[in-house]
Amino acid sequence: MPQKLPALFLGHGNPMNALATNPWTEAWSRLGRETGKPRAVLCISAHWYGPGCSVTAMATPRTIHDFGGFPRELFEVQYPAPGDPALAERVRSLLAPVDVAPDHDWGLDHGAWSVLIKVFPAADVPVVQLRIDATRPPAWHYALGRALRPLREEGVLIVGSGNLVHNLQQYGWGEPERPAYDWATRFEARARALIAAGDHEPLIGYEQLGRDARLSIPTPEHYLPLLYVLGAQEEGEAVSFPVEGTDGGSISMLAVQVGQ
Ligand code: ZN
Repeated sequence: MPQKLPALFLGHGNPMNALATNPWTEAWSRLGRETGKPRAVLCISAHWYGPGCSVTAMATPRTIHDFGGFPRELFEVQYPAPGDPALAERVRSLLAPVDVAPDHDWGLDHGAWSVLIKVFPAADVPVVQLRIDATRPPAWHYALGRALRPLREEGVLIVGSGNLVHNLQQYGWGEPERPAYDWATRFEARARALIAAGDHEPLIGYEQLGRDARLSIPTPEHYLPLLYVLGAQEEGEAVSFPVEGTDGGSISMLAVQVGQ
């Protein structure tokens, strides 16, 4: 394993990816093989978003099926990765003086397990989740990503799970091949160029990026995990895009890898 692990932003998209084999899930599996087995994963998922910052601190997180209207077999999926209370404590100390509450109720939501089940299918890598504090501005989340940087040298893989473009109102259910909307294509291209250039300020200030950004990010929870991953990037560090594509016209499946 390299001394410093990469940090990953994964576009999780439709939870049915957990059961599917497609180019996106194959790319997630490949990422897992290339990364090797980290000591633990710290996951910032779009689906744990609410007032206040918390970190899962239980030894045995449950698999949460936080969705409706999907086939029973998706509700039967279990991802029995252990927790890592010591990592939860480390996260709390790294983020101090931000008050991060130890949590014993949550577990692993589908933002975490629907991708990790492909990246680490043996479920033998401990996983800790960090709740996104919905009351805080984008720059605050980016700063938390910076504060988490040392974890990359401690064998911890930081995984942000969301979607760069995520508009469910425009989503073509059952039409994965629907062409991307023009605004989605434009926003993804613009964001991707900024990420590639290491120009993070406009990405933190995405609310000022106009109509394409408003349509691509109608609510912040799927976008903010990206800011944690960008915050974890060292100055001038390499960045790559190991997964690409659009689902249903309005969900970008783009993945961002910081470091190697
Ligand atoms: Zn989602």
